[in-house]
Amino acid sequence: MSEAKTLFTRIIERDIPAEIVHETATVIAFKDINPQANTHILVVPKAVYRNALELAEADPALLAELVRTAGAIAAEQGIAESGYRLVFNTDADAGQTVFHVHLHLLGGEPLGLFGHPGKGEPQE
Ligand code: AMP
Repeated sequence: MSEAKTLFTRIIERDIPAEIVHETATVIAFKDINPQANTHILVVPKAVYRNALELAEADPALLAELVRTAGAIAAEQGIAESGYRLVFNTDADAGQTVFHVHLHLLGGEPLGLFGHPGKGEPQE
């Protein structure tokens, strides 16, 4: 029995709409539906891996391609000079909600600290 398609596979297959900014045979990138910065784009391999570690172990070249693609999109979006953040959320404490590995590209404004909830300070 095949597993259910991931949300991002459904976007790749045009089953669900998305604002696609970049696509090759192996990678797709689209705007995050709930942006956390002025620029927030998800860079996603078409092959399904649960998280960055599984991708790194199975296909390190594809992991590198995700990072290169994010850099190229940052340049296209005009944020390469001002800087940006690349994030892989992994499992519950990081808030991963889609278990099809994706690289968040965030920028277009100064970004806040991150780590603890809220302002990056330990919560008492
Ligand atoms: P993560 O929490 O790292 O698993 O990130 C999943 C991301 O997917 C979140 O930032 C969501 O806002 C984003 N997302 C969920 N559904 C869609 C969608 N239909 N189109 C674009 N982004 C989405």
